[in-house]
Amino acid sequence: MNNSIVIVGSGLAGYAVARELRKLNATIPVTLLSADHGGFYSKPMLSNALSTGKHPATLLNSNADQMRLQLKIDIRSNCSVTAIDSARNTVHLANGEKISYEQLVLAIGAEQIRLPLQGDAAEKIYTVNNLDDYQVFHSALTEKKHISIIGAGLIGCEFANDLATAGYHVHVVDISLEPLGRLLPPEAGAFFRHRLEAAGIVFHLNTSVQSVDQDAQKMRVTLKNGEIIESDLVLSAIGLKPNTELAHAAGLPVNRGIIVNRLLQTKISNIYALGDCAEVEGKVLPFVMPITHAAKALAATLTGNLTPVRYPAMPVMVKTASCATVVSPPEFNMPGEWQIEADENGAKALFINETGELTGFALLGAATIEKNSLTSRLPPILM
Ligand SMILES: Cc1cc2nc3c(=O)[nH]c(=O)nc-3n(C[C@H](O)[C@H](O)[C@H](O)COP(=O)(O)OP(=O)(O)OC[C@H]3O[C@@H](n4cnc5c(N)ncnc54)[C@H](O)[C@@H]3O)c2cc1C
Repeated sequence: MNNSIVIVGSGLAGYAVARELRKLNATIPVTLLSADHGGFYSKPMLSNALSTGKHPATLLNSNADQMRLQLKIDIRSNCSVTAIDSARNTVHLANGEKISYEQLVLAIGAEQIRLPLQGDAAEKIYTVNNLDDYQVFHSALTEKKHISIIGAGLIGCEFANDLATAGYHVHVVDISLEPLGRLLPPEAGAFFRHRLEAAGIVFHLNTSVQSVDQDAQKMRVTLKNGEIIESDLVLSAIGLKPNTELAHAAGLPVNRGIIVNRLLQTKISNIYALGDCAEVEGKVLPFVMPITHAAKALAATLTGNLTPVRYPAMPVMVKTASCATVVSPPEFNMPGEWQIEADENGAKALFINETGELTGFALLGAATIEKNSLTSRLPPILM
């Protein structure tokens, strides 16, 4: 069989490339290999599923068979790639099979980071980074009321808001002084916190979880500051680590992610990477919009029209209904300062660089109305 293009991964990145490829070429053989069920779903919906009335089963848009028919590609579900033999242009599967490729696309995502915590229940902490995880977490919620979340970043806050809206008592623990500490300046973080507190969420900030122990039917979460939270269930959402091991073992350079150039090409010219696993010119951008741009460019390149990816400014909407929020954070360590205006209805934070240009913003509450006008003033992320 001529497996011209092999895509590894059936997340948004893998399927976005397959879709874009089909728009450009209806017949080129494409094989998609996935370690999971291979169905298509929108991962961002996992963190607001309860409040939008979605059940794990209704979150799946199309299963692997439906995707196979829709895109006219070969899909292999529950099929883990264990090694890449770049000299022979083959991938090795967990079942011992080998599949050859002319061009290989790695869209293998990222893993939730797990904290090495003390306590006899540390292994019972849930994480959610895919639909299967969510199914397990959702089942565990049955007849539970008190949920602790480790991490007040974007995903932790979205789950907190979703659970609180659905009637759960939610505690959130984070080492930052305010929630969304990496995305918002402190004043904007305080505005955000007040709104979520008004929705019933209790924050434990400037501290961290030391241990998690089982105490009869409860989980006892002990914080470094000495506080103890009694919970039914603990969810950890402290961040993602790109999956780089497969690439590293194949001799491909990796840093935070799999290193690729603007063509999404690794050091080996017929192996590409995009999505949460990739580091494009030093940037790891684990969001939907960068995937959309990367997939379009990569599909063109794979079909012979070499197309470097361009990223415009891509603000991210934080799906916390209790506090509408949109952020376009400045690059890490960029010199400049935040200018903030806030009243009881909203907060607008503009990041102005040393030459007086707007290079980032955070808009909360009523200020989100300015999203489009401010986005048009931002420089592109990659020209
Ligand atoms: C709860 C949550 C909410 C989010 N909300 C937003 C949002 O509102 N807006 C936004 O822009 N972004 C959001 N994101 C981020 C966004 O969803 C991700 O950036 C995106 O889904 C990543 O897609 P991906 O295809 O790169 O990776 P993944 O979805 O992780 O897919 C990786 C795929 O690779 C497969 N795989 C891995 N290793 C192997 C192997 N060895 N062999 C075979 N297959 C393998 C996996 O099985 C999987 O199919 C959210 C993320 C989470 C977790």
